[in-house]
Amino acid sequence: MDKKNLLPNYLYKGINIIETSLIKGGIALPPLMILVAKGSHESLKQHEYGHFLQYKKLGALAFYGKVGLPSLWNCIENKWEEKKYAGIKYSVPHSYHRVETEANDLAKAHFGKHSALACWPSLSETRESCKKWYVRIFLYLRPKSFF
Ligand SMILES: [Zn+2]
Repeated sequence: MDKKNLLPNYLYKGINIIETSLIKGGIALPPLMILVAKGSHESLKQHEYGHFLQYKKLGALAFYGKVGLPSLWNCIENKWEEKKYAGIKYSVPHSYHRVETEANDLAKAHFGKHSALACWPSLSETRESCKKWYVRIFLYLRPKSFF
């Protein structure tokens, strides 16, 4: 871990960030905790903290409904596409999903423009899927010989 990027704990006020070898990447589970992979870069912690800021802004119900589920679903789609359709992208790359770029902007506002995640995509760089969700599900589920 790059020591010079470590931030004082008060900047992560309100939630504990736990490093664990049980996961890859990170996940925010407010109000309980944020989990990140062991040795994660400060930028990932700041990003996950951005999800905590979304949670504080939206409340639990809207956070898990409008941020948590869409984010999880996007992760599943990205993994699915990687595994089954190498090279084909129907869904948005995870880091450009609306809820992810929004978390980045909130974190940038909190940690400052020189923060570790300063170069992560902003809300204005949000991308849309090239296919609607119901079209994507149809494309994922179609038999290989279909077309
Ligand atoms: Zn995220």
